[in-house]
Amino acid sequence: MTGKNLFCGFLIICMLLFFGNLFSAAAAGAAPENDSGSGQVRGFVYHHFGMEDKYPSTSVSISQFKEHLEYLEKKDYTLLTLGEALDLLHSEEPVPEKTAVLTIDDAYKSVIENAVPLLEKYGYKATVFVPTRHVGGPNYMSWSQLAELRDKGFELANHSHSHEYFLNHRQEDIAKRFEKDLERSHRMFKDHLGITPDLYAYPFGEYHPDMIEVLKKYGYRAAAAQKSGVMHEQGNRFLLPRFPMNFNYGEMESFTGKIKMHALGVVESEPENPVVRDQNPPELKLLVKNEELRAGGLQCFVSGRANCETKYKRKDGTFEIRTVSTERLETRRTLYTITAPSEDGSKWFWYSYVWIMPEYSE
Ligand SMILES: [Zn+2]
Repeated sequence: MTGKNLFCGFLIICMLLFFGNLFSAAAAGAAPENDSGSGQVRGFVYHHFGMEDKYPSTSVSISQFKEHLEYLEKKDYTLLTLGEALDLLHSEEPVPEKTAVLTIDDAYKSVIENAVPLLEKYGYKATVFVPTRHVGGPNYMSWSQLAELRDKGFELANHSHSHEYFLNHRQEDIAKRFEKDLERSHRMFKDHLGITPDLYAYPFGEYHPDMIEVLKKYGYRAAAAQKSGVMHEQGNRFLLPRFPMNFNYGEMESFTGKIKMHALGVVESEPENPVVRDQNPPELKLLVKNEELRAGGLQCFVSGRANCETKYKRKDGTFEIRTVSTERLETRRTLYTITAPSEDGSKWFWYSYVWIMPEYSE
């Protein structure tokens, strides 16, 4: 999480506050909370718990996390692991409208110390993405603690071996480096936990099409990025969105605003490769299937600021949306976020895309 992302977070919160009434209207009015079959799942990504003094950009406070769980229980959310949610999304079964997934990256010690007791109290499980090289290090859980989580029914998934910046390698070396790292992580998962993971979270949310090919070759079902948004049936399974939760985003207003969001319905995004090349600012092209979308209400934000332009045209029942920043991108990762209301104003749709410039450091 960078300072820029934090800035983005504040603005998004402002935006959420601004539209707060609409969200409440959505919750109370035209969008029934119990309708089913929407084929959407809200996912969140956490890191630390109760470490907000030290890591405000990656930690929620214990009381914030407790409030999240209380809300999920009170509002009758179905809480699934990421694997269970994907099974459901790609089955014939209807997905309950209120389905959520809690994921936790990095497998820090504060997970078992502060989050697991609370999750157990509510009977909820989470998916923990483990960077195998760091297991047992100061601040991280040990293999025996991870085995304990596995035995409790938590889902353990892959967050690389080294947690390195794979995009810092030369383009032609990325696949090779990534594959070697993946094999090392598999050996450690097998040796210590007796499992081979099939879900992946990209370190720093940085991915490349060559990495996706490697994951597919090794039988992975899906991979999570670090871009906000809502998972849906037709979305790219190797670019699963998750809303980040930290001390600033963790307040209930922000949490409930996000959990009521709907997927924009992106079925294709271009470019496939998020690395910014010659064209800066880069243009994002989306193909969107969404019968409820009020395209006239499309808005875009570049890392939280509305300094971008969005155009759309209707094409055979789908929307082609093009978004470009009005300023050059000059940070390692930049999010384009696109939001729009539904025709009847009862829902808000959300999508984000991450651009990466490996020549910049964090
Ligand atoms: Zn991480």
